[in-house]
Amino acid sequence: MRAAVVGGGLAGISAALGLADRGLEVTLLERSPQLGGLCRSVPDPVAGRVDTGQHAYLGCCTELEALLRRLRVRPALEQDRLDLTVVDVRSAVARRLAAWPLPPPTHLLPVLARWPGLPAGSIRRVARVASSLRVAADGLDSVPARGWLRSLGQPEDLIAQLWEPFLVSACNVSLDRCSAALAGFVIRQGLLASAPAGALRVPGTDLTRWLDPPADAALAAAGVEVRRESRVTALSRAGGPGLQVEDANGRQETFELLVLAVPAPSALRLLKGLGGDRPELVAAAALPSSPIVNVHLFTDRPFLPGPVVVVPRSPLQWVFDRSALDQDPRHDSWHSAISLSAADREVGVPERELATTMWELCRTTFPAAARAKLRHVRVTREAHATFAALPGSAGARPGPRSVVPGVALAGSWTDTGWPATMEGAVLSGRRAAATLTE
Ligand SMILES: Cc1cc2nc3c(=O)[nH]c(=O)nc-3n(C[C@H](O)[C@H](O)[C@H](O)COP(=O)(O)OP(=O)(O)OC[C@H]3O[C@@H](n4cnc5c(N)ncnc54)[C@H](O)[C@@H]3O)c2cc1C
Repeated sequence: MRAAVVGGGLAGISAALGLADRGLEVTLLERSPQLGGLCRSVPDPVAGRVDTGQHAYLGCCTELEALLRRLRVRPALEQDRLDLTVVDVRSAVARRLAAWPLPPPTHLLPVLARWPGLPAGSIRRVARVASSLRVAADGLDSVPARGWLRSLGQPEDLIAQLWEPFLVSACNVSLDRCSAALAGFVIRQGLLASAPAGALRVPGTDLTRWLDPPADAALAAAGVEVRRESRVTALSRAGGPGLQVEDANGRQETFELLVLAVPAPSALRLLKGLGGDRPELVAAAALPSSPIVNVHLFTDRPFLPGPVVVVPRSPLQWVFDRSALDQDPRHDSWHSAISLSAADREVGVPERELATTMWELCRTTFPAAARAKLRHVRVTREAHATFAALPGSAGARPGPRSVVPGVALAGSWTDTGWPATMEGAVLSGRRAAATLTE
């Protein structure tokens, strides 16, 4: 049997390996010159390469970790439990907070006890969220996360100081617009499951270098043919059980099985060639997208109080000390990356203005930045970074089985339970391969 996988992001890589493991002859067709999809870096005239968006993941991302082990890729930061630096925006005091290596929920006690700016009684209130998530969370997808948290007695201070930094970065949409089901899922998986589940992982090189060569090697070892710069433009019936795949280079080929691991609107467009509208995809393709913006600062010295820094109630959100994490650091300047999730406003701000605002904020938030000299700034924007996980979005995400026999769907937008993440993408690819070969 011959199978094609369209799309060489994490979902496509995972699907191609899954199909090859089941003995199929697999061809992976990727539009761009590189593998990795949204996990990518771009050239920068001064810095070499910069990621279009800082990526991090947690110990609970077991599907992603299994794939990375196969690719022989390791992150630079690989904690055994949650350990991060939180800055109190009012006093500019930084605190390093680490979970205890104890069973849940005790593991979180030192983090909650010392998290800056939490109102009295916060531990008890967080416990209330935890116990509500222990029972089935029916109906949560129809309500926004902020309203759900309020209904569980979480005051605004607690929401802004603690829940917003975690949930907005994971779901990439403001809590007023975020499905409570997805927020609850993230809390359950990342914060409450166990101490190792919340451990942070951060890549140690630019994303394309981190993923592309290792994925290429693993796919080759599994016998997958990888075709880069091969944009699939049309699908049709080959007259028989076969599916004809045509790419922009005019190449046509017939396959028995197909995984579409492309964004939902592209999957919908391609599937139309196989006959009519596909209702299961129309809702997914109509989900609005949500942007992520990164501001890469290159200074003459380090200024962050830790490798991963969160600043609640500040536009800075999360800041990563890239040079401290880099396995192959540049020696002429220090790289810090500000990662702005749900960046609906920032995505339209001119680069110079955004850079000035963010650098000024750094200088007031991190005392060491006052002595640092800014040498270079690069702003990267992904306007369609993720789907917007709005209330109701769970119902708009199809599973791996498409209504066309022999065609499966994969991608972090499909119904994995996860927000649009690397973990969801890898899981979706594995499920698509399993569905096709059942
Ligand atoms: C800035 C940013 C920051 C992020 N941060 C994190 C993070 O910290 N942690 C985390 O877990 N997740 C993060 N994510 C989300 C994560 O990157 C994605 O959810 C995941 O990479 C999606 O993988 P995918 O394979 O589903 O889709 P994609 O990566 O979109 O892959 C789809 C692939 O299909 C190709 N393609 C499209 N059309 C065609 C065609 N017609 N023919 C051939 N090929 C085609 C595309 O070129 C692409 O390579 C972030 C995303 C962004 C953009």
